Amino acid sequence: MPRPPNHSRPHPSRAVSLSESVVSMRRPILAANWKMNLGRPEDALDFVRRIRYALNEIETVDRIVCPPFTAMAAVAEALAATSIAVGAQNMHFEDKGAHTGEISAAMLAGLCRFVILGHSERRADGGALETDAAINRKVRAALAHGLTPIVCVGENLVQMEKGETQAFVSGQVAGALDGLAPEQASRCVIAYEPLWAIGTGKAATPADANRVITLSIRAPISDRFGETVAQAVRVQYGGSVTADNIAPFMAMPEIDGALVGGASLKPDYVDLVRNAAEAAGSR
Ligand code: PEP
Repeated sequence: MPRPPNHSRPHPSRAVSLSESVVSMRRPILAANWKMNLGRPEDALDFVRRIRYALNEIETVDRIVCPPFTAMAAVAEALAATSIAVGAQNMHFEDKGAHTGEISAAMLAGLCRFVILGHSERRADGGALETDAAINRKVRAALAHGLTPIVCVGENLVQMEKGETQAFVSGQVAGALDGLAPEQASRCVIAYEPLWAIGTGKAATPADANRVITLSIRAPISDRFGETVAQAVRVQYGGSVTADNIAPFMAMPEIDGALVGGASLKPDYVDLVRNAAEAAGSR
């Protein structure tokens, strides 16, 4: 369900040329990144069966579960009769070939609808397959196969302390979306995940996350693809989100959901999603 337009909440820092009705169509999106957990199909099924009925009822937001590759088929089957979508945590940019241990968009297309790309944990150890240029190739491959990329961007602690967040994050965004058609760019989801907030229990403040998203994500998208695209792209916040702190993030005008790591492995993840949906509905 689209959120109702809220004319009392103007864009915080720059003019918006797009009508409120288009902005209101950004459907919130909550994605669970299980990382390298629950990879045995029986463990994944045990967990997903515990949450799927309650999660399925929270219909006002998109809900994505991203298990390890080894559990994707089992999870996809368990969620087949629900409105909960499945995502992958990574993929290669080539369709096939001599890439031992890799999985392609062509292989994922029948299994899932979303794919996380450029997560900071992968950028940290991924070398040549996790540069901005490689992530751009992955984005193109994902879109070509009908997958929605969730592109992770975010600065580290040193960059944040030196005041380099805007230059760094906007560069990551420009690199990931380079050369796309506006329609393709509008289909991407961006996850703003400051590295210092991931798995640390120290979330960004909602206001700071909203500001970075405005200046370092929507602004460069607007520059490259136009304001309509910038206002259509869904942008998540990620980093130590919990059931207790999600609501003020969702109340921010530029935050359209969350990418959730640790908290998505707990049964009260359903409370997190429910709280997010309620907060989004009232903004
Ligand atoms: C993540 O890894 O994408 C993440 C946001 O992790 P956490 O929620 O545990 O900080």
